[in-house]
Amino acid sequence: DTFSQTVVTTSQHKLLGGLLAPGFDEKLCSSRYQSVSYRRMSRYMPSSYLLSKLRSYEDLHRRCGPYTKSYNETLKLIKAGNPVASSAKCDYIVWISFSGLGNRMLSLVSVFLYALLRNRVLLVDRGKDMDDLFCEPFPDMSWLLPLDFPITNQFESFNQNSPNCYGNMLKNNIITKESKPSSLYLHLVHDYQDHDKMFFCDEDQTFLKRVPWLFMKTNNYFVPSLFLIPSFEKELSNLFPEKETVFHHLGRYLFHPTNQVWGLISRYYQAYLAKADERIGIQVRVFDTGKGPFPHIMDQILACTLKAKLLPELSRKESGITPPRNQRSKAVLVTSLNSGYYENLSNMYWEHPTVTGEVVSLFQPSHEEYQQTEKKNHNRKAWAEMFLLSLTDVLVTSSWSTFGYVAQGLAGSKAWILYKPENQSAPDPPCHRAMSMEPCFHAPPFYDCKAKTGIDTGLVVPHVRHCEDMSWGLKLV
Ligand code: GDP
Repeated sequence: DTFSQTVVTTSQHKLLGGLLAPGFDEKLCSSRYQSVSYRRMSRYMPSSYLLSKLRSYEDLHRRCGPYTKSYNETLKLIKAGNPVASSAKCDYIVWISFSGLGNRMLSLVSVFLYALLRNRVLLVDRGKDMDDLFCEPFPDMSWLLPLDFPITNQFESFNQNSPNCYGNMLKNNIITKESKPSSLYLHLVHDYQDHDKMFFCDEDQTFLKRVPWLFMKTNNYFVPSLFLIPSFEKELSNLFPEKETVFHHLGRYLFHPTNQVWGLISRYYQAYLAKADERIGIQVRVFDTGKGPFPHIMDQILACTLKAKLLPELSRKESGITPPRNQRSKAVLVTSLNSGYYENLSNMYWEHPTVTGEVVSLFQPSHEEYQQTEKKNHNRKAWAEMFLLSLTDVLVTSSWSTFGYVAQGLAGSKAWILYKPENQSAPDPPCHRAMSMEPCFHAPPFYDCKAKTGIDTGLVVPHVRHCEDMSWGLKLV
């Protein structure tokens, strides 16, 4: 009957098409089940295979998570080093907190997908504030690496030259077919070397299977290169028949703002965005040195938004008074470290009427001036702003910015990407619609593991291509 059908649909909707497990305590994390009422239903349904994989991952996590019998057993291996006892029941991958928030979210999705593919348990190094920003994503069992984990204080010193670094060990011929280390460090940070990149080869994956503890530091979205590992291919295409939905689904599955951050999001949304007929997000991230706002970037934002008809043209007639009824309203959310772009736009639409009669209102939640990754409140605002951007109907994002990638992926829409300006001038064309809503992998390997030669990994399969905003990057389409 209609009533139970409605109930089913509503609860399916609330669980994001089955992506989320039911039964979490709603008060502990209001955003988990409430965010659906702030955003349009996703156009993309997760595959039933992905759903069953997530449910079985949750079981694995329950069985192997912190302080379980298996965890305690496997932990002994770290302390003892070699040799590996055969009684170890679970394998782990520890994500080490590293880099800006957008980068962290991209790398965490990558590591989680890797954990799904390898049946490893993901544990998250909380760094300064991971627990302050995100709710627990898995039922009944924490994803946070326990505070008494024995080697957390060494994480910061892990780098490509560390004795336990896999790439470094390969380089020095320390790894043989017989080696059975109980733990290894994987260095997949943008500055990684050829030996570190062997991670993306099948043979190395076979070797890594034997290692119960993997520690990974990365600031990259390395998912596109996982799609190029032959032994992962079948599983990945079953999980994601629509390839461009990886971040969209896994990001919505993993990232739920904590109540404090949800307060920032929901109050802002209700106060400034909820009532508009249309919401537009403009994310301005400037990598040039020097103090903004830069006139060429202002020009570029205007050229893009007017050309793509996201914002209405201004009327130069002085008497452009429109009767205050039935006017469509557009709310524009600007995010930037600098307030100048917002101020300019805001003045423009105050000083002049629009040719369409539309009412354009502008909002910018914060202007933090510079990146302050070590500060809790700064990162809460950054997360709140990424989320708010993801609630808009149309997005304009900046080239190279992982902050923008996160907003786009969670939104599930293809952004207009502002091309990266060169030599302090606005590029022409100013922007371009994204091919897909996936993030770009900024530092992919260009290596053919079988042929042992360099290749262009952007030309191997049709669904892994070079990015719009970074010619050497790779993205799923
Ligand atoms: P990326 O550098 O653009 O790839 O993004 P990241 O998120 O990794 O690092 C940039 C950091 O700078 C963010 O995490 C914030 O701390 C800060 N930041 C950059 N743009 C903004 C913004 O528009 N709003 C806020 N609140 N913070 C920003």
